Amino acid sequence: MKERLETFGTYQDAMLEGNDFMSHSLLSSSINIGLLTPMEVVRKAEEAYHNGEVPINSAEGFIRQLIGWREYMRGIYLKKMPDYRDTNTFDHQRDLPVFFWDAKTYMNCMHEAIRPVVEHGYNHHIQRLMVIGNYATLFGLSPQQTSDWFNEMYIDAYDWVVLPNVLGMALYADGGSAIY
Ligand SMILES: Cc1cc2nc3c(=O)[nH]c(=O)nc-3n(C[C@H](O)[C@H](O)[C@H](O)COP(=O)(O)OP(=O)(O)OC[C@H]3O[C@@H](n4cnc5c(N)ncnc54)[C@H](O)[C@@H]3O)c2cc1C
Repeated sequence: MKERLETFGTYQDAMLEGNDFMSHSLLSSSINIGLLTPMEVVRKAEEAYHNGEVPINSAEGFIRQLIGWREYMRGIYLKKMPDYRDTNTFDHQRDLPVFFWDAKTYMNCMHEAIRPVVEHGYNHHIQRLMVIGNYATLFGLSPQQTSDWFNEMYIDAYDWVVLPNVLGMALYADGGSAIY
């Protein structure tokens, strides 16, 4: 709340080479494991806004991630499982390239998106969605192998949040059923 939230609204969708965390909170692992409840975090952000410490685009953008996306992803999982895990609309079957485990690739965007995962078990939303997700879709990677990779590599990974984000939001492997 003190160090990053103020700039979250402006920079939440940005990437900057060498800056692994930017304005992101790094709270997903603590929330998912139950050390913090989503509502505690939401109330703190709301308080920071009312105290004049952060602008409205930061408070709104951050709160929306929690009571919007996080809760929505949970709902999709509860509604669609167990069949959802096998969804593969485009019938993509390719194996993941080896650089997914060591980040050694000349494609700098992929290198900069995967390097923080190898180093910290973490990268932020834009790297997960826009870079890795887009690459996986264009390259025809197996959605199931891709979701297994997310489950194995990330400190905040659990099936209920990985599957709707990977199969639905990032790869469109569910034919859009999570979104429409
Ligand atoms: C392909 C893909 C895979 C993902 N896998 C995971 C995962 O395994 N575990 C996980 O918790 N999140 C996952 N997310 C959602 C999101 O990327 C992470 O929650 C976020 O990057 C965690 O970093 P942060 O705590 O710094 O988030 P911030 O940017 O600071 O956001 C604040 C909080 O909002 C919540 N949040 C934001 N977006 C989402 C979302 N789409 N789904 C669920 N919660 C959200 C998280 O609790 C997060 O801590 C994934 C997103 C994509 C596109």
